[in-house]
Amino acid sequence: MAVADLILRLFPGFAWLVAGGLFRASPAHHPVGVAGMLLLGAGLVSAGWLGRGQRRGSLLAGGLLGLVLVPLAGVYALVGVAVTLLFLARELVDQAAATRRLEAERAELARQLDRRINEIFSLQELSYILADSLASERIAERVARYVMRFLNAEGAALALVNEDDGGLRVAAAEGALAGFAGRTVEDVAEALVVRALATERIEVGRRTETEPVLLLPGFTAESAAAVPLRAHGLAMGVLAVANRRDGGFSAEDLWLLSTVSTQVAVILANSRLFEMVRQAKEEWETAFNALTEGIAVLDKQGRIARGNRALARLLNMPAPALMGRPFWEEVVGPSPDAWLLAAAEAKERPAPLTVQSVPTGRLLKLTAAPLAEPTYEAALVVLVADVTEQRALEAQLIQSEKLAAVGQLVSGVAHELNNPLTSIAGLSEFLQERPGLGADREHLRVINEQAERAGRIVRNLLTFARRGTAADAVVDLNDVVERTALVVAYELEMRGIRLGEQRAAGPLPVRGSRDELQQVVVNLVTNAIHAVRDQPPDLPREITLTTARDGAMAVVRVRDTGKGVSPAHERELFTPFFTTKEPGEGTGLGLSLSYRIVEAHGGRLAYAPAPGRGAEFWFSIPIATDLPEGEAAAAPAAERSALLVDDDPGIELVVRALLEPANIAVERAASAAEGARRVAERRWRLVIVDGGLSADGRQLLSEQAQVPDGTRLVVATADAALAERCRARGAATLPRPFLPRDLISVVGDLLDA
Ligand code: ADP
Repeated sequence: MAVADLILRLFPGFAWLVAGGLFRASPAHHPVGVAGMLLLGAGLVSAGWLGRGQRRGSLLAGGLLGLVLVPLAGVYALVGVAVTLLFLARELVDQAAATRRLEAERAELARQLDRRINEIFSLQELSYILADSLASERIAERVARYVMRFLNAEGAALALVNEDDGGLRVAAAEGALAGFAGRTVEDVAEALVVRALATERIEVGRRTETEPVLLLPGFTAESAAAVPLRAHGLAMGVLAVANRRDGGFSAEDLWLLSTVSTQVAVILANSRLFEMVRQAKEEWETAFNALTEGIAVLDKQGRIARGNRALARLLNMPAPALMGRPFWEEVVGPSPDAWLLAAAEAKERPAPLTVQSVPTGRLLKLTAAPLAEPTYEAALVVLVADVTEQRALEAQLIQSEKLAAVGQLVSGVAHELNNPLTSIAGLSEFLQERPGLGADREHLRVINEQAERAGRIVRNLLTFARRGTAADAVVDLNDVVERTALVVAYELEMRGIRLGEQRAAGPLPVRGSRDELQQVVVNLVTNAIHAVRDQPPDLPREITLTTARDGAMAVVRVRDTGKGVSPAHERELFTPFFTTKEPGEGTGLGLSLSYRIVEAHGGRLAYAPAPGRGAEFWFSIPIATDLPEGEAAAAPAAERSALLVDDDPGIELVVRALLEPANIAVERAASAAEGARRVAERRWRLVIVDGGLSADGRQLLSEQAQVPDGTRLVVATADAALAERCRARGAATLPRPFLPRDLISVVGDLLDA
């Protein structure tokens, strides 16, 4: 009992050990465990069953069986324990191996993660770098450098498709490929780069046993990859990488290359688009600003959204200042902008409008084009053309045509009148000589005078009607004006009119007829005299003659302080026979004749109200540039100065009294030597020499050896032979002693010649 009890009590310990071996070992050992369990179960059952009879035999049998089974179970249990321990040991070894495996896997995953993170960061870095520039060459450079660094390659290059011929050109190259930068890629089908462009797929190559990879024509590598760059369905180029230093190209490398190339292709396509847009904008802006007409783009409120340089110039402000300004107010003035409103609402282009602009003082023609789909920014485009000059030219043309028509008519009539008038004037003069005419003589005188006057008018008419070009000589306009001033000086003084003069420095040579140009100036000055002479005494009586150079033109202005021309008459001024003067005072031909003369000289005659009060007539004629040498030298007008070479101060007084009222400054040299020196020093208009000077002085001056062109020499001498010699050499002579009248006549002749 005690033994069975002991066995029963000990058994669970064995059972635990056996079961432990059974469940913790691998399924392959289960049969051993199951057999152990069965053996134990059998031992227990038999021991229990035998022990139940309480008989000696049974007890003995049970005891014997127990004695056999228990040790057997014990042995088995020991074997089980040993097996279990063995299994446990093996399991420990297996677990250690699994742990090592897991550790390696974890390390690999960590490495991959690390690389991916690295890639992401570097891709991000690349996109930052690329976002920095839109120039395709810069982008290519940066990509090649990036790829080379990131893949640890020996060389990288980026070839772009040429838009014109579809060929490939290496835009940037680094490392071993650096020598290819800027080169065209030959079309060799085996080259990886060419293939990648043709197939539009990534092409990768590794050296075969015999041959390396041909990456670019002229470059082979141990391993290489070529990735096409595609964006918007277009092949933009190829990215080439040579010899990865860490071995061949892995799947991750190719993934990275493909990601980079997609990104780069999009940026390159954008850069091309940007470049196209920039170029188009530049071209458009250049054209916009090159236009001589002003252009304004207006918004719906009629404010300037955009304006070109011509418009800015017209409005006299910098172009950026145009933005946002009300168009109508700035360009036209404070009048109602009905035309603009109508133009903005019109479906079609409205009729152009010509307006007098208040802010600019110009005549402007506005043409509007409404936009089909107006936006807030732009609703209407207005073209602003300055037609001031064009209108003036048109008016001038009409005037010329009118003059030509009148000219034709007039010349016919004038010729017919000329002969009868000559007869009337001649005969009436002839009849006046007859004795015993009495009161009729006076009548004949009037007839003669009127016929003379009619003759003058006819002559004027004929000059007016004469067409064709002016005589071709070089005339100094300064000189012409100066002579006119001399001619009218006396009359001005008589009438108490002040003459102001502003002369251009240096000569104003023009080509044409001196007489005709003189006639123009005389006509203008005569009109000016008429305009101021009847002024009330408290008003200024002044005429100003100005000559000036204005670029390539010589300009003459005649300004007076008269009552000016009424605006209603302005348009008629140059029309033949237009006059506001009393009959007998004016023919109305002066200005039209002058107009025609100036026109024949290639110039222009015009009227402008004088600032303040009065009228200003001005004309401009092109300055002659191709002067022959002699003419150029002769053209300059000398100053209004006279040198008297005479040792008698009394003579100086007389000469001064006579010449100074005509604005001629007189100086005296007391000896022939001084005279010669002063003549050499500067130019004089007149040199009057006393013929009684020492023989060599006389010789010097009379021979005109030292007297420059443009200076007139007058020799006063009682010596008839000397006078003759002097005249033969082109000098004028005066008798000595001379009378004031003689001097005036010689000097006047000289100045007017
Ligand atoms: P006329 O002097 O014979 O009238 P013009 O052709 O010279 O002919 O001038 C035409 C008209 O122009 C003159 O009648 C006058 O009304 C006007 N005019 C010309 N010059 C002036 C001036 N300086 N000031 C005012 N009016 C002028």
